Amino acid sequence: MALDAQGANTTDRAGLNGQAPRCEHIDQLPTVEPGLPECKECLALGRAWARLLVCLTCGWVACSDDARGGHSRTHYEETDHPVVATLASPSTWRWCYVHRRTV
Ligand SMILES: [Zn+2]
Ligand SMILES: [Zn+2]
Ligand SMILES: [Zn+2]
Repeated sequence: MALDAQGANTTDRAGLNGQAPRCEHIDQLPTVEPGLPECKECLALGRAWARLLVCLTCGWVACSDDARGGHSRTHYEETDHPVVATLASPSTWRWCYVHRRTV
């Protein structure tokens, strides 16, 4: 299993000091089917997106914070669904908005 080789920037690893709290959100995730590989918000605005993330709570697909859209964050703010993953690759990268780090 390839470990996280995809991410161009793997900056937000939990610190080496061991103080990062464990993310309990990943324990509560259902199995979801990701939606279509597109950001509906960007489509409505006629924008391009850089990277797509999928909400692991409901399968909602939206663009990442890399671009100006940041619609996956918008989704989190509207729904409190805390964890997203990259849609494109079978990567183990997951991001928790509550803990603001990879989990
Ligand atoms: Zn968390
Ligand atoms: Zn978007
Ligand atoms: Zn969601």
